[in-house]
Amino acid sequence: MNAFKQHCRRSLDSIRDQGRYRTFTPLQKRADGFPYYLRPDGTRVLVWSANDYLAMGGHPLLVDAVCEAARTMGAGAGGTRNISGTSPVHDDLEAELAALHGKQAGLLFTSGFVSNQAALSTILNSFPNGPDQPWQVFSDAKNHASMIAGIKGSRAVVNIFRHNDLNHLEALLRAAPAGAPKLIAFESVYSMDADIAPIGAICDLADEYDAMTYLDEVHAVGMYGPNGGGVSERDGVAHRLDIIEGTLAKAFGCHGGYITGDAEVVDFIRSTAPGFIFTTSLPPVIAAAALVSVRHVRQDHALRAKLFERAAALKARFDLAGLPRIDSVSHIVPLHIGEAALCKEVSQRLLNEFGMYATPINYPTVPRGEERLRFTPGPLHTDAMMDELVNALTAIIPLERRRAA
Ligand SMILES: *Cc1c(COP(=O)(O)O)cnc(C)c1O
Repeated sequence: MNAFKQHCRRSLDSIRDQGRYRTFTPLQKRADGFPYYLRPDGTRVLVWSANDYLAMGGHPLLVDAVCEAARTMGAGAGGTRNISGTSPVHDDLEAELAALHGKQAGLLFTSGFVSNQAALSTILNSFPNGPDQPWQVFSDAKNHASMIAGIKGSRAVVNIFRHNDLNHLEALLRAAPAGAPKLIAFESVYSMDADIAPIGAICDLADEYDAMTYLDEVHAVGMYGPNGGGVSERDGVAHRLDIIEGTLAKAFGCHGGYITGDAEVVDFIRSTAPGFIFTTSLPPVIAAAALVSVRHVRQDHALRAKLFERAAALKARFDLAGLPRIDSVSHIVPLHIGEAALCKEVSQRLLNEFGMYATPINYPTVPRGEERLRFTPGPLHTDAMMDELVNALTAIIPLERRRAA
């Protein structure tokens, strides 16, 4: 125990020395008034970094759904899915999510992290081609920690392809044993780089090399595609993906994760994944609110349009002010800072002097030298709020770090 405590101290010291010790900023989310939050002393903070992309978390429809469900069903599920923890609302939500992605079946997990970790490790620990042929998994270099957790916790042979690099992916596919089962795991919108995968072209390679495809649409569901089915819906390729994974905790404003896919594949994961079986199911209150949210967001096309209009408005303002934003084809607006200490300082000063909050993104989330602040403007961020933000940033960020306007 002493040795371990010393190890903890040394590790924490080293994390502090590198300027990447994590401190949380307590901010109370408000159902009304979003994107303003409250600090413990009662002062208002304008938040620019929430993943509640469409501001659905405080939507009156969802708040009502939660209250109503709590009054009828109480707080917790009271069991795993197998042990009296399946409410009709869980089944309805799974059917709704399957429909959202045009798939045969859906399966809920307690979070998006768990859905990736459990689904990938379960698939990759199987031996469809016999005991001598472990899976070959092809994983984008910038995949989220939850996918990496599922892949590392398996017996698959791991091939990491350079981020969104089709040539590298193809070279790795070509080099892999022909008889091995293959799976390509990737995301649609990468939230740190704000870029988007060439999904159709990856599906072409999957066809050519007989690989399965697993797509994380966490930062796209609700927002991309005519009905919020994600980038795969926008690009008309959802039917080509074997598994589409998503979260209910970002644009849908609730909590929980899910996968959708072929009925038999989903049934296999339902029947064998420990991360699905041996844990209490999502609280019915949350499932009820999520169902209302998904149904609402699917048909609220104006809400999606507003998100992209707001993102474009912030990008234009940053450009006009010469703020070095990182090129983004998504709704996420990253601002390049380039130093961990400065990144923290800008975030701190935004909060303490200007009453605004944006998350500093430092190593190891991004490589050193690529430290950034990440802004996620949503439908409720007004022009006036954006002007206030740009004024604050130009006051804080030294002139030499800005581009000529
Ligand atoms: C946030 C995130 C997850 C995890 O989803 P949660 O519902 O928050 O657990 C999975 N994948 C990606 C890419 C994410 O950004």
